Amino acid sequence: VEKYDKGLEKSRKTFGQFMNNLFSNFRMVDDEFFEELEEALIRADVGFETAMRISDELQEEVKLKNVKKQSDVQNTIIEKLVEIYDAEGADENNELNIQTDGPTIILFVGVNGVGKTTSIGKLAHRYKQDGKKVLLAAADTFRAGAIDQLAVWGERAGVDVVKHAAGSDPAAVVFDAVEKTKKENYDILLVDTAGRLQNKVHLMKELEKMKRIIEREYPSAPHEVLLVVDATTGQNAMVQAKEFKDTTDVTGIVLSKLDGTAKGGMVLAIRNELHLPVKLVGLGERITDLEDFDPNQFVYGLFK
Ligand code: GDP
Repeated sequence: VEKYDKGLEKSRKTFGQFMNNLFSNFRMVDDEFFEELEEALIRADVGFETAMRISDELQEEVKLKNVKKQSDVQNTIIEKLVEIYDAEGADENNELNIQTDGPTIILFVGVNGVGKTTSIGKLAHRYKQDGKKVLLAAADTFRAGAIDQLAVWGERAGVDVVKHAAGSDPAAVVFDAVEKTKKENYDILLVDTAGRLQNKVHLMKELEKMKRIIEREYPSAPHEVLLVVDATTGQNAMVQAKEFKDTTDVTGIVLSKLDGTAKGGMVLAIRNELHLPVKLVGLGERITDLEDFDPNQFVYGLFK
């Protein structure tokens, strides 16, 4: 739980406050109680569907086990949250799909400003610290400044960057990066892509083109397509995630800026409504502020 301590401070305050109000004085665990619970969960941004699901399942369980004590109800809520998260992804892996017998190639997608470049820099730092040989590809050639920004993160992390001029063909950058990966035996290749092009079809085609180039050399790659969303934008992030899910095969979510929001409950909304695993969370602006997502630690962190 420790690693989420600072990052979840804001979420915990609101979440905890709601829960404390809910459980403050002696009261019946009745219909009104559940209505208040639903409201509290919705305000904590777990999403409407998810709030209803938690409430429904909880009501059943309370009846079934004849739970009367509020502390038991509270524990059941925590269990439910973890369970909902886990049940959704019983067949998936929460961890990044890292290869041991060849390079791991990860594509990053997401709209501008969500923290894509920062997340790539943080992940590069992690693997560099692990003693891996890391390469970044600046394939967002569309947005002015994106290439330089990635180069800055490459420098910070002490890893190499493949870049072309602004406005050049992103597929050519990917091609060069894949060639370099092969020739120079890189362990990890992280590809920054443009968040928005002229339109959705264009973006879809660009991403497909990049994937084909990668697949030609490494048939099992890309090993992850990570969508970065900004936790502070709440429902807007959900809409973006839905759009990207339609555009390309997203394998996981990087939820950035969790430290700047009380909307920590979003993690559950993403899981329950989009059926995507949250793989990484951003908990600050420093290079070390990136953590693997662990549903147990996360939910307990919310209630601590
Ligand atoms: P991009 O346009 O998607 O590449 O976004 P950037 O990586 O440039 O990030 C946009 C802003 O969000 C920058 O000011 C980052 O410092 C900030 N940022 C990114 N991740 C986090 C995070 O986890 N926590 C906080 N507090 N800020 C972040």
